[in-house]
Amino acid sequence: MKCTDEFDVRDVDECCINIDPIQVGGRLTADAMKAVIAYGDGYSVCDQCRKPFRLDYIKSPPIDRFHRDLAAFVNMDVARVVPGARRGFQAVTDTYVGKGDPVLITALSHYTEVLAIEGRGGAIREIPKSAGNIITADAAAETIEAVIREFGRPPVLLFLDHYDYQYGNCHPVAEIIGAARQYDIPVLYNGAYTVGIMEVDGKSLGADFVVGSGHKSMAAPAPSGILAATAERAAEVFRTTGIKTDVTGRTFGIKEVGMMGCTLMGVTLMGMMASFPHVRERVKRWDKELSNGNLVVEALKAIDGTVIRSEYPRKHTLTRVDTINSFDRVAKTHKKRGYFFSSALKERGIAGIIPGATKVWKFNTYGMTRIQAEYVAATFREIAEENGLPVSI
Ligand SMILES: *Cc1c(COP(=O)(O)O)cnc(C)c1O
Repeated sequence: MKCTDEFDVRDVDECCINIDPIQVGGRLTADAMKAVIAYGDGYSVCDQCRKPFRLDYIKSPPIDRFHRDLAAFVNMDVARVVPGARRGFQAVTDTYVGKGDPVLITALSHYTEVLAIEGRGGAIREIPKSAGNIITADAAAETIEAVIREFGRPPVLLFLDHYDYQYGNCHPVAEIIGAARQYDIPVLYNGAYTVGIMEVDGKSLGADFVVGSGHKSMAAPAPSGILAATAERAAEVFRTTGIKTDVTGRTFGIKEVGMMGCTLMGVTLMGMMASFPHVRERVKRWDKELSNGNLVVEALKAIDGTVIRSEYPRKHTLTRVDTINSFDRVAKTHKKRGYFFSSALKERGIAGIIPGATKVWKFNTYGMTRIQAEYVAATFREIAEENGLPVSI
């Protein structure tokens, strides 16, 4: 089926149970789909833009209220919408990082944090991970001390991913932020895998900034996201223009430099806003999501030779699994080789695993019904049994 002369219809989430780690939290709600159609035109939210001509002041649609709701949602003072978590990182590094300034990330940090720092010429130092793939407050404190020895001053900024993208492990962010506090290092809490799927309280964690991804975890179109800050940091990262041009003498009101004036001006923002009431409710059901995830994890663990690489029991629906001694052994002799696994899943209506992957791979059960989770669990077992792998219980 085509949706234009040229493009195929995309129906992965209608026809399959999708377990792609990066896609499941960003799938649109029905309300977002309607908003996307109505507000698809460029600059569509600007119909009612009046003085002082800034996105977060627009009353109709209620974009001003949405900004306040967003800040409250992550318990911070001020929030802005940004085109992806990465643009939130960039606004923060543009404010705090100069050439040669030391910036801390972790051994499990996302590449977009690295690029945001690299773009400013910052000197990146990583907090190492433990043997169990956790970033500890002790490791953070030691790395801060090492930076002070090397640079003669503490890092200018610390990036912390609450749950990392590789293992979906939970890192003790409040404790780590406590360690950074002792040195007055501003901390950016990266909630790409939390904001919009579980409750996040930025103030109680002690974060200076909370960043979230609309298209990863808030049922919003790409590119969208949020950057929230404490009142003190907001004055810095959301500073307004002060320039006067030389020939025409023009000034630009209260446009924010770090936001390039306005950010999401149509379909992305309206999709995000339309999903928001649903997102605000769904974060309260995180324990149900976890129990679905653990059901699938148990099924995989029951397959002889399979190892869960993420911390266990799981605290997130994103899990890294090692099937080198199970499904990959099958792949060695199967006529489809490594493709047997993803194609067996596809035949049974499960999508989102990289074709050919049988060694170490990730999946995310977020958004499934209980029945779908039971089905996915049974399907992993069934594929194992069909291929002669012992399955316990
Ligand atoms: C996906 C992801 C990002 C990037 O998010 P965007 O909204 O696509 O910019 C950043 N950090 C982590 C940990 C992620 O998982």
